[in-house]
Amino acid sequence: MVGGGQLARMTAAAAVGLGVTFRVLSESESESAALVTHDVTVGSHRSLSDIVGFAAECDVITFDHEHVPGAILAELESAGFLIRPGSAALRYTQDKLAMRERLTELGVPCPRFAPVSSLADVAAFAGRGPDGSAAWPVVLKAVSGGYDGKGVWVCESTVEVEEVLAHGIPLMAEEFVPFSRELAALVARSPSGQGAAYPVAQTVQSDGICREVIAPAPGLPEDVAVQAEALALRIAAELGVCGLLAVELFELPGGLLLVNELAMRPHNSGHWTIEGARTSQFEQHLRAVLDLPLGSCEPPAGSFTVMANLLGGTDPDIFDRYLHVMAADPAVKVHFYGKEVRPGRKIGHVTIVAGPEDEVTAVRDRARRAASYLRWGTEDGD
Ligand code: ADP
Repeated sequence: MVGGGQLARMTAAAAVGLGVTFRVLSESESESAALVTHDVTVGSHRSLSDIVGFAAECDVITFDHEHVPGAILAELESAGFLIRPGSAALRYTQDKLAMRERLTELGVPCPRFAPVSSLADVAAFAGRGPDGSAAWPVVLKAVSGGYDGKGVWVCESTVEVEEVLAHGIPLMAEEFVPFSRELAALVARSPSGQGAAYPVAQTVQSDGICREVIAPAPGLPEDVAVQAEALALRIAAELGVCGLLAVELFELPGGLLLVNELAMRPHNSGHWTIEGARTSQFEQHLRAVLDLPLGSCEPPAGSFTVMANLLGGTDPDIFDRYLHVMAADPAVKVHFYGKEVRPGRKIGHVTIVAGPEDEVTAVRDRARRAASYLRWGTEDGD
């Protein structure tokens, strides 16, 4: 796996169970996955020679992020290395405009969008209302390189648009979608064409960062869930994805779905599967990229799962808080990624698997309290 972040770290744990030899290419020896993986190559994912040296030791190469330059991916493929997912599919995770254009060609519903490079372009995109005012807000997005809401700007005025244009990076405009909530459809597809779909999850974002995931999405009508799963499987097949595909969706009032984003790797919306599904997303990704039969995506009968991300607070010494949370609610599963604590940084997550007798609101509250305590030392933080 290229990249030494927490996704590689959790994939390493799955590889142990499967008996698969797992190597990582990591920027440094102190990255999350490098700390727990026996076989680490230190090098840059932006260097062709570093990746080639690493790939020469591997049967299959996969990724914990989407930042390997497309030209390097293409070179690796032409040199005969097995890259999963391949460069043709990964392109749609690296270029939001290409992704929107391709999905639109496939008839997949997306927010209205347009490439923009000037204030006039944005004004034309926003259009003019009957009273002569433009239809604000407008969402501007970096065409490439954004993550966790960095590279997404909700602009309320031309002044704000000018500030974003001043970054001088390629941008696209999108309509602001008044969604009722956000969902994620996570599927796997293997090179043999086998597909598998996890139950659709609800994701809760704050400042562009995923804070909470509830799976299956509470109260999601069966027909909408089936439609979301089928849509994600169709996108995986049409784009030729090998491995996991996470499709981030906006649910509109009335149940209409729009695709927001694609990721082709284990995804934050799927961390709940470690305890909450019969096969974790990390094991599933390995099974898919190795062309093994896929595992069951089902949660144990009647269960649902809540996951809350742990963000860093101001006090890096978490041990006392760690003890407290484990003692206060023994059903909470705490995951730490071995990352240095910095304010606002994703450093771990907590998961609670609940049964049919449990109430979603109460379980969400327990997960939120545990995450807050780990961050701030109080259950009433954010
Ligand atoms: P990234 O994956 O690069 O962080 P996303 O496109 O997923 O960026 O956007 C991050 C968050 O910003 C989304 O989860 C959503 O909450 C919000 N957002 C993105 N696009 C829109 C939009 N068109 N309308 C309303 N909210 C949006």
